[in-house]
Amino acid sequence: MDFIGFNKPYMTGNELEYIRAAVTNKKISGDGEFTKKCHNFFENKYGFSKALLTTSCTDALEMCAILLNIKPGDEVIVPSYTFVSTVNAFILRGANIVFVDSSADSPNMDVNLVEELITSKTKAIIPVHYAGVACDMDPLLALGNKYGIAIIEDAAQAIDSYYKGKPLGSFGAMSAFSFHETKNIISGEGGLFVSNDEKFNARAEIIREKGTNRSAFFRGEVDKYNWVDMGSSFLPSDIIAAFLFAQLEKMREIQSKRKAIWEHFGKALSPLTARSGVKLPFIPDYATNNAHMFYLVCNNIQERSALIEHLKKNNIQAVFHYLSLHKSDYFKGSHDGRELKFADHYTDTLLRLPFYYELSDNDLNRITDSILNFFNAR
Ligand SMILES: *Cc1c(COP(=O)(O)O)cnc(C)c1O
Repeated sequence: MDFIGFNKPYMTGNELEYIRAAVTNKKISGDGEFTKKCHNFFENKYGFSKALLTTSCTDALEMCAILLNIKPGDEVIVPSYTFVSTVNAFILRGANIVFVDSSADSPNMDVNLVEELITSKTKAIIPVHYAGVACDMDPLLALGNKYGIAIIEDAAQAIDSYYKGKPLGSFGAMSAFSFHETKNIISGEGGLFVSNDEKFNARAEIIREKGTNRSAFFRGEVDKYNWVDMGSSFLPSDIIAAFLFAQLEKMREIQSKRKAIWEHFGKALSPLTARSGVKLPFIPDYATNNAHMFYLVCNNIQERSALIEHLKKNNIQAVFHYLSLHKSDYFKGSHDGRELKFADHYTDTLLRLPFYYELSDNDLNRITDSILNFFNAR
């Protein structure tokens, strides 16, 4: 019985050829030909005001925090059930983190809890589109307008996913995507910074280029290349961009295969909800499913641990996900004490199934049969 791992990076076929082309061009630092092709792809396909490749989604989020001028004492509202990078970006600028709970339906933030957390110090709200399924953006955008607070989307998992027909990543003042090898579209490590407000565009280029106006200089817009702001090195090599562009050209194929895998899981496992109380991913009417992930929400942690063990015996690797950040070693002393019961619930009960392009029908049946057998025997 072959081992079915949780993830396996998929190569579409042109990655090495494009890397060879980047190397042959003798332009392998940042902002070469492939980087430009990627920028054009994102700006044209999704209508972003500015798209800039970064070395990771983590870096893109750090750019957002710098561009918002987050300062010590500012408050940022973030879900507790998320990856550390969503929060670290703001911690690095000295912000106070105000965690919000997940909703009962899904790990996404409960937007109904946000308004009561807003104070005169609140500078940003960071929705994370978990599993690529949109947070309810209209109420969040309304709060942003009402209180003059920026919305920044952590769209790390949300490539090619939509809310009421509009692409995720296009709602926030800025947003961030990831191309880490566990995401749908990959470049090993890699990310994308997005601005949807022209007022950030010029400074975003500067911050990404060590605080210099090098990008404008190369376009001939300024005659001296100078240090003009704070910044860091957030731009990836054109070798990374070459890999990424090969993936972008095959996005449609990647997405349709991933959706077929998701549907297979959904169909085979749907009887579980009535029979054993296990929940499957919830996709609200306003959201599309970009098939980033298929997860189960078990009844309790004991059941989840037993299921992980059962699958392991069948040579299948299923994995849990985030541990609530408000209870992390680093943050627990700083949390204000509010109970975040759904974040804790998903910490204990959410289980992610193997999910990658090359899963065969045979693999899928093995996974779903193992899960159904587990619950039938209980
Ligand atoms: C993957 C992920 C990140 C980090 O992405 P990197 O590209 O690895 O920095 C941040 N937030 C969420 C929600 C993620 O899933």
